[in-house]
Amino acid sequence: MISSPITTSVFDLFKVGPGPSSSHTIGPMKAAFDFRQRLAHLPTEIQQRADAIHVHLYGSLSATGKGHGTDRAVVAGLLGWQPETTDPVAMLKLLRDPAALYPVPVDEKTIEVGPQQIHFERVRYDSPYHNTMVIKLTSGEAVLSEEEYYSIGGGFIIRKNEPEISADAYSVPYPYSTMAELKAQLTANTISLDELLMANEMSLTGRDRAEVNQRIDQILDFMHKAVRRGLKQKGILPGSIKLSRKAPILFQQAKGMSQSSDSFLIFLNAYCLAASEENAAGGIVVTAPTSGASGVIPGLTFLAKHRFHYDKATMRAGMLAAAMIGFLVKHNASISGAEMGCMGEIGTASAMGAAFLTRCTQAKADIGPIEAAAEIGIEHHLGMTCDPIGGYVQIPCIERNAMGAVKAYNAFLLATSGAASFQKISLDAVVKVMKATGRDMSTKYKETSEAGLALSATEC
Ligand code: SF4
Repeated sequence: MISSPITTSVFDLFKVGPGPSSSHTIGPMKAAFDFRQRLAHLPTEIQQRADAIHVHLYGSLSATGKGHGTDRAVVAGLLGWQPETTDPVAMLKLLRDPAALYPVPVDEKTIEVGPQQIHFERVRYDSPYHNTMVIKLTSGEAVLSEEEYYSIGGGFIIRKNEPEISADAYSVPYPYSTMAELKAQLTANTISLDELLMANEMSLTGRDRAEVNQRIDQILDFMHKAVRRGLKQKGILPGSIKLSRKAPILFQQAKGMSQSSDSFLIFLNAYCLAASEENAAGGIVVTAPTSGASGVIPGLTFLAKHRFHYDKATMRAGMLAAAMIGFLVKHNASISGAEMGCMGEIGTASAMGAAFLTRCTQAKADIGPIEAAAEIGIEHHLGMTCDPIGGYVQIPCIERNAMGAVKAYNAFLLATSGAASFQKISLDAVVKVMKATGRDMSTKYKETSEAGLALSATEC
């Protein structure tokens, strides 16, 4: 009996939305959208009395929310915008004028929200999560309605006191919560990894096999559109760092040296930087598993498609294996930079990328090398801090995506040479270590820009 099985869908992990941060952009946007939806269900007399909406951001949302565009994301959500269909250009224009006010419908009137209603509160705050936001509907000094949300990474949110949905509501045919349990299911049911993951996904989403496959193809398409856009865009990224985009330069360089052994690496760097620079610019990306880490898997899958020419079925199987690793980390540790530091974001993306590559190169899914590749991917990111300069998802984030992809490639090479018995550390063990390391890490190194590289901002 699995007490708390994983019930995350592939399409909850791989979410489409505007950059630059899933926890600071997509999560708050979804929370604000949820609050807007709830307004309509309040008693009419409450709606009639209301005269203001206030949004209070705490913890890492307060510390780096400005650089991450959290205030714009909150306004977008209150305006009823959804991440996947948001126009990134329109989103960047929100709050550009400090006097701008945006109408939110409440009953038969509208309440205007602007910068004065978005409050960047304390970084240290008594809360179970590092990314906390409280949204209030008020009348003068009186609070008429209040919701507290936690943005837990990858665009996932939790609403305080949300009634727990029982695991039965999400029953899957092959429940597991750890890699050991997943392997036990594979053995007990003599089922392949591909089939197990597909069966669970169909059960969770109510989609049939063709629909799941079609949506995976769409997700890959969104990822590769971000890579293609980034390869063409030149200029300076938004924000005070004035960081130049580098992906098109690397791309041209790689094309001019196709006979060189370095070109493979430079192409991979270019693809990863392209998607990451699009994310930093607020473009539409796919959380993989987060927006900050949205260059690793797009870079690797772009390489797999255009250099290794893997067919659709192979790419889909690789994406399911990658998602499975993301589920295990999210379930047993966290994929949030504010909880785990960068090992939770780039470390997880690298492990997912290593699993993707390993699965793609196998004729049949063999869980041993996939687990080993993912374990190596995480092991060599343990302790990696999150210290973005100026609160922008640029330095170290953009290059870190390229480094995460290169490590994923090497993890795949290391895991697929020698016998499976060479691997002495299990994925479950390394995820436990990640959780303990994240818990011990100072808050200064968890997406607050209070230490590390963030303090070198004055030298930029
Ligand atoms: S340093 Fe890593 S975890 Fe932190 S914002 Fe950048 S990519 Fe995300």
